[in-house]
Amino acid sequence: MRLRFAPSPTGALHIGGARTALYNWLLARRPGADGDSEASALVLRIEDTDRERSTSENVEQILEALEWLGLDWDEGPIFQTHNAARHREALEQLLAGGHAYHSNATSDDVRAYKRRHGSDRGFRGEPESGGAVRLHVPDDGFTVVDDIIRGKTRFPNVSLDDPVIARADGSAVYNFAVAVDDLDARITHVVRGEDHLSNTPKQLLVFAALAVAPPRYAHLPLLHGPDGKKLSKRHGAASVQELRDAGYLPEAVDNYIALLGAGFAADEEFFTLPQLAERFRLERVSKNPAVFDERKLRHLNGRHLRELPADALTRRLEQFTGRTGLHAAVEITREKIQTLADFWPLAGFLFDGPVDDPAAFEKVLGSTEGRQSLAAARAALAALPEFSRENVERALRGVVEQRGLRPAQVFQPVRVAIAGTTVSPGIFESVTLLGRTRTLELIDRALARGAD
Ligand code: GLU
Repeated sequence: MRLRFAPSPTGALHIGGARTALYNWLLARRPGADGDSEASALVLRIEDTDRERSTSENVEQILEALEWLGLDWDEGPIFQTHNAARHREALEQLLAGGHAYHSNATSDDVRAYKRRHGSDRGFRGEPESGGAVRLHVPDDGFTVVDDIIRGKTRFPNVSLDDPVIARADGSAVYNFAVAVDDLDARITHVVRGEDHLSNTPKQLLVFAALAVAPPRYAHLPLLHGPDGKKLSKRHGAASVQELRDAGYLPEAVDNYIALLGAGFAADEEFFTLPQLAERFRLERVSKNPAVFDERKLRHLNGRHLRELPADALTRRLEQFTGRTGLHAAVEITREKIQTLADFWPLAGFLFDGPVDDPAAFEKVLGSTEGRQSLAAARAALAALPEFSRENVERALRGVVEQRGLRPAQVFQPVRVAIAGTTVSPGIFESVTLLGRTRTLELIDRALARGAD
């Protein structure tokens, strides 16, 4: 298979675009993907013909997003604007062969034509000496979009307008450029978003006029948010960069977006990229919109995060937070976080001291009982011969027992004293990691504050 991903650099790479890129990549990387002697390949084409909205910053952002997702390509990036001479050559070929003609017809003329001939009649223009270029659509036969996901749709040619393929200045319009570029890149499968479905008959007509076989097409259903509306910013992170900044791992993003509408069994969920490449089948993609639910991504992200060896997770967290020396804190936090962004709010106190959460302080250490428990915990911790995790646990559980309290009545005061708030990694682990001197110092500070 020869596939392509053809983003327009008019903005960042969004989740839907990332899914299109990923599906193409999975197909190109499928082990033993086809019986053809030719190996599969993925072509990256930057469709930069919208000169006003296409910027080099957007190109950079898209390339960076693909790289972050771990999606590489074999050919390109090819810039569509660089193919202008070739588009002109193909245009000349069609004009010379009588498959296309110049026409000054405007959209008003097209409407007038349909009033005269019936709204189901495709527009046919009169060849003129100049103006835009339209393709001759034959009056008989059908243009059949044979979509791998959606099946066949037959358009009677007689109802299709002669499409404009070039402007009066000879520059190719979008649908013509795409078809010529797909032809030149010898693309065998066009896998793209359903929003391009209406372009496909026009592109098929170009292939027919050029007397070459078209690629196969597969149009991916759109993504919706959990509310059933088209996915947008309202639903949370919308671009790949935003997902990265929200602390998601590329492995998890790939995994989650690969699942969307791909038709995997519901009990299958956790996959690496190579596993996805092995299992993904275009034929199984659903034609119904798939739902992107960030909560599910969070959950899956947590699983991927726990699969990472501690060293690797530490490196990612150090990169994400811009801090170093996190290894021990990562060890005691990894079971409790779902994203990289969850780490610092939970573990930051181990480095920067307790956070300021007056409500938590008041609730847990505002009472005499709370402060008495904390004082007892302090005494038990101070008396330990060796400050090991086991000893810390024994000391704190000992206080629970001696005083006939529930564990939380002792652990929460200690937690608020060292973390400033009521959530932290495991209390024994946190205390052990802080060490005796620092723990006692923090407890003393909390007791002093409570006595005010
Ligand atoms: N450039 C189009 C886009 O970014 C994709 C066109 C295609 O895949 O044929 O939406």
